[in-house]
Amino acid sequence: MEKLKQEIIKYGKKVVKEGLCISFFGNISVRSGNKVYITATGTILDDLDLDDIKECKIDSRECKGASSELKVHQMIYKKNSDIQAVLHTHSFYTLLLNEEDKERIMKYEFGEFIGDFTIVDGKSGSDELATRVSDCVNDYGLVIVRDHGVFSWGNSLKDAYIKISGLEYYSKLEFYKKISKGFI
Ligand SMILES: [Zn+2]
Repeated sequence: MEKLKQEIIKYGKKVVKEGLCISFFGNISVRSGNKVYITATGTILDDLDLDDIKECKIDSRECKGASSELKVHQMIYKKNSDIQAVLHTHSFYTLLLNEEDKERIMKYEFGEFIGDFTIVDGKSGSDELATRVSDCVNDYGLVIVRDHGVFSWGNSLKDAYIKISGLEYYSKLEFYKKISKGFI
């Protein structure tokens, strides 16, 4: 259990260091059997300690102190038993993407690696958002929630992190390409 928590602590530092999230947005979880270990609400992602990670049941909404996005994480895990980790960031350049940009991003070599992704709408912490995001799990590599953030998943936090990090890189590249061509 402590090893799983240490993994969350490690990736909390990485996502902030890489600018994928500012310290107090975003949340991270890993699954272990029928339990989910998730960052607590209001935590500073690059300064987590073991007590900042809550142990929750995968089937219960009740989990004192857990992130308000717990339900999204739980529903993602329930949709695919291979998923062992979920990462949610507020990646700045990724949030500037629209559906047309997606076509260009997917043309990069890394598009194959990220897997297809989609953009959905939904209010943070709502059941509706949890349903919309988790409905994408088996068809996409990650989901952008418009004007909010990104959810990524994988067999490990490393898998989820690589996708989020790669998409942010290409989103930034697209942004500056548009500036250099005078589109912005
Ligand atoms: Zn968020």
